Amino acid sequence: MSVLDLARPELLKMKAYSSARTEASGGEVFLNANESAWPSYGEKGPFHRYPDPQPAALLDQLAALYGVTRDRILVGRGSDEAIDLLIRAFCRAGQDAILIQPPTFGMYAICAQVQNAGIVEVLLDEQFQVDANAVLTGMTDAVKLVFVCSPNNPSGQRVSRETIVTLAEALAGRAVLVVDEAYAEFADEGDASVIDLLDRYEHMVVLRTLSKAWALAGARVGSVLAAPAVIDLLRKILPPYPVPTPCLDAALHALSPQGRKAVTEQVLLVREQRREMAAALRSTPGVREVLPSVTNFLTVRLDDAAAAYRRLFDAGIVVRDVRRYPGLSDALRITIGTPDENQRVLAVLQGVTA
Ligand SMILES: *Cc1c(COP(=O)(O)O)cnc(C)c1O
Repeated sequence: MSVLDLARPELLKMKAYSSARTEASGGEVFLNANESAWPSYGEKGPFHRYPDPQPAALLDQLAALYGVTRDRILVGRGSDEAIDLLIRAFCRAGQDAILIQPPTFGMYAICAQVQNAGIVEVLLDEQFQVDANAVLTGMTDAVKLVFVCSPNNPSGQRVSRETIVTLAEALAGRAVLVVDEAYAEFADEGDASVIDLLDRYEHMVVLRTLSKAWALAGARVGSVLAAPAVIDLLRKILPPYPVPTPCLDAALHALSPQGRKAVTEQVLLVREQRREMAAALRSTPGVREVLPSVTNFLTVRLDDAAAAYRRLFDAGIVVRDVRRYPGLSDALRITIGTPDENQRVLAVLQGVTA
């Protein structure tokens, strides 16, 4: 059995669009894509040409960064696009479903609704851990994709490798296991990714992004890491030019040796600030609990989360109200900012007027 047996059969038969850029290799004068022959006004980059659909230089850098071969990577507009592509590739509208574990990232359910795929919800346990048995009990024949967010947004903790392996073993032949590692870089022990398991499980996918630790949310660069067969399938339905030229330049710049050094230092600072903020918040009146976090945010339970949200807002500080999530009806999610920004949060919550 191949992982492709889980995919939408009509897509397997479909012939992919062949873009002008893919057919253009080896030419000198490009008159095949109806591009402008002239640079755009005051242009800095070659913006008048369509970009490479999967820029080789970026694939090389990302493949090295994540420790995979180039045939196991697809780059697109953030993990958000990856989630959408996966659901469209594996879920037949009105028939198939995804399984998610609330409280978790909202886009899985949104993309499922857009595709008219069903949503099976299996709540995280009281410690916000994935209960592998509960997930497997919740499985139905309709479920084609199981999303595991690790570390989880908004609860902040990682899913253990043992749990991922248990799920991967049990889901073989039944569903694709998608592990969203948007926050992997922030873990104290360093990046404790499960990317290496891709060699063992053809039905496993890992999502990574440059939006969080790499400080490129505005450039929209995310990677799907998976078996070559899954990458080829997603490429079929990926719109032709997902990586705009300015975004490519920004990503390559960030991934340069100097860029990597800067990111390493920033991640260390985030971890240090997270530790200090967690300790300070734990001794702040009105704070019930600070959930353990290996991410760049802290989810905080408060006696009166609504009032705290308003006080922060009135002081010009916007945090995320996560009270609508199951198990978090008294909580706010606060991103780790600069040391100055974090001090401002503390000053407001401690009732100190600056
Ligand atoms: C922020 C976030 C993403 C979105 O990442 P993009 O690459 O910016 O689309 C994906 N998954 C989780 C869990 C996130 O918190």
